[in-house]
Parts: sequence; C-alpha cells; structure tokens
Amino acid sequence: MIDPERAAADTPGCRGGGIFLDSAGSSLPPRDVLETVIGHLRREAEVGGYRAARERADDLEEGYGVFAEILGCAPEEIAFTDSATRSWLSVFNAVPLAAGDRVLITEAEYAGNAIPILRRAESVGAGMDVVPSTPEGDVSVEALEGMLDERVKLVSLVHAPTNGGLLTSVRAAAAAARRAGAYVLLDACQSLGQVPVRADELDVDFITGTGRKWMRGPRGTGFLYARRAVLDGLVKDSVDLHGGTWAERGLAVARDDARVFELWEASIADRLGLVAAGRYLLDLGVDEVHAAVRAVSGRLRTGLASIAGVRVHDIGVAHSGIVSFSVDGVPAPKVAELLVERGVTVTVSRRASTRIDMERRGLAEVVRASPHYFVSPAQVDAALEVVEAVRG
Ligand SMILES: *Cc1c(COP(=O)(O)O)cnc(C)c1O
Repeated sequence: MIDPERAAADTPGCRGGGIFLDSAGSSLPPRDVLETVIGHLRREAEVGGYRAARERADDLEEGYGVFAEILGCAPEEIAFTDSATRSWLSVFNAVPLAAGDRVLITEAEYAGNAIPILRRAESVGAGMDVVPSTPEGDVSVEALEGMLDERVKLVSLVHAPTNGGLLTSVRAAAAAARRAGAYVLLDACQSLGQVPVRADELDVDFITGTGRKWMRGPRGTGFLYARRAVLDGLVKDSVDLHGGTWAERGLAVARDDARVFELWEASIADRLGLVAAGRYLLDLGVDEVHAAVRAVSGRLRTGLASIAGVRVHDIGVAHSGIVSFSVDGVPAPKVAELLVERGVTVTVSRRASTRIDMERRGLAEVVRASPHYFVSPAQVDAALEVVEAVRG
C-alpha cells in the first residue's frame, strides 16, 4: 500500500502545507521528474540542445519501452507528442472519413474532441452521433450495437470524463465497435496514471493521454498508443522528416510504426521528465496507485456526501478519483475561490467542456476535486472541514 506521507515527502510541491486536490488539472510532479527537467535544461544551456539530447539518447529510446509496459503494448506502438489533444488530433485526422460516414461519441465526450469531430464532419459531409447512456450514466453497449453499421468509421470513447467520477465500460463498447469494423479511439487523459489502462486488455485501436495530470509529468507532454495492425490503413499526411523520409525527389515514405505521429522537434527536457514520470509510476505499481486513489477519493466522496447542502455529482458504476460536487446556494467558482484561499486547491468544470453530460443532468458548473495518492486521510478530513465552513 502506498504511504501518502512518504509520497508527499517525495513531492516538492507538498512542502507548502496546502492540500492539493487538482491532479485532474495539472498535478504536482515527484522530485525526480522536476530535477530531470531542470537538469536537462541546464545541460542544454551548457553544451547545446543537440549534444545534450545525444547524451540522453538511451533514456529517450527506453521511454518507448516504459510507456509500452504501462499501456500493455509494443514499444513500436508508442509515440510521444506535446499534449493529449495533439495525440488525439493526429490519430483522428489519420482515420479516413468520407461523405456519409459517421463518428460515434458518448455522452461523456470532451469538448476538445467533439469540436474537431464536428468541424471535420462538416467539411467532408460526415456525421457525428451520440450513443445514449444507461440509467447509471455509463455508455449503453446495447444502444451502441444498434447504431453500428458499415458507415461508422470511428467510435470515440472517454475513459474518465473531465467533469466527474465516471469510469466508462471501455472493453465491452470497444468489442462491439471493432466487431462492426470501426476504429476505437480511447481518450485516457484522465485515467492513465490513476487506473490501469492496457491496450491488451481493453482491445482498442488508439489510446491518447497527457503527462501533466495523473501521470505527474511536465506540462506540454502527451503520448499515444496506436495498434500496429491498423497503421497501414491510415492517412499519413501530417508527417515530417522524423515520421517519414524524402526518399526520391518525387517520393515521400512514411514510417510504419507509431512514431509516424511524432514531429522531429520536441522539448527533450519535458520528454525526459515524462519518461521519469512513467518510471515513477511503474516503480510504485499501477495497481497500488489505483488502490490508493480509490481509497483517498472514496473518503472524500463519502465525506462530501455526508455534509448537508453539498451534492456529489457522480454517475456510472465504477468511479475514478475525480470527485465533482456543488454547494447549495454558493456558485461553483465562489466555492473554488474560497477553498483555494484556505489552502485547498480545486478547480471548476464547466458545461462547455462536457456539454452533453452536463446538459442532460442540468448542470452548469461543478467544483472538481481530484486527490492523488500523495494526499493523506488527514488532509481529506481537513479539506472536508473547509467545505463545511464555506457552506456557511
Ligand atoms: C484534459 C483533457 C484532455 C486534453 O488534454 P491536454 O493535455 O490539455 O491536451 C482530453 N480529454 C480529457 C477527458 C481531458 O480531461
């Protein structure tokens, strides 16, 4: 079992005495991640970026293996990018889509994905349809099966939505979609680093994620998994001299592994920091992290639900470490502001980020608290007291 006090002692940001409940926004990195990034920036300033990168070539290469181990795939199926959204867009834009085709999303869809789907659908004459949820708020696999046909080219799933505790039943939905011949793209931005996300178990074609959230990596980092077997069928037209080769004057050839989605230029310091974050996660153990996040977020959920005038906005059957709530009579931004003033870092999730779910539930904005394993039970209890106090 992970000891929160020890994890906090290894986290420079925990020294200030505040209570950090925003790992769904941008988490606090472990010391090793911080020092890796700063150390490499220093080295670049001493010898130049090219030589500094060459010195770390082995670590950079091993990074693919680290993420392959986390994601349950081969190193050739991993690519690094500068954000989850970049990963998602690269994959999405490589999926062939023509007039009359359809993309299916769920009610948990994130605005950053829905917007490019709608924009591209409009320009090619395709359509976007929403798969209804079960009464509990999870994706309805039965409804999905009824909507699948040969025109459905892609099913977009969000493992853990940005605005609440739902954990989507990815495996069953992915199996149905793949049986019907659609690609399955999983947004694991809010799940990787807090719950196990394995390509070999979930059987999806693509997984995208970020460094800065539950992975505790640097900002401006992202990664993706792309199933080797589907790469051939993709449109590879946003490729540079890293993802491809100018083989002859009139011929450009694209790579046949996932690195076709990378560009040559990248922040090497941040990439090394992300790899360090991946190693840190593997050292702790993905299952141990999952158990610890469940414990700490469970304590927060139960505690919040027991305060009169506070409502926890969970849906689904299995829950992630994201706990969203509201306080009767106090607008969410005000609650967040009062909490932050009292040393409890939380954020606000707004309707425009997860429009379908929020509209369906009649929610405009909610306070989002997302404790990681470095938050102790005593800190959760202290945060609950602060919520009681701001409730008035
Ligand atoms: C934060 C988030 C993203 C986008 O991640 P970036 O790193 O900002 O690109 C995508 N999907 C979900 C569900 C998110 O919460």
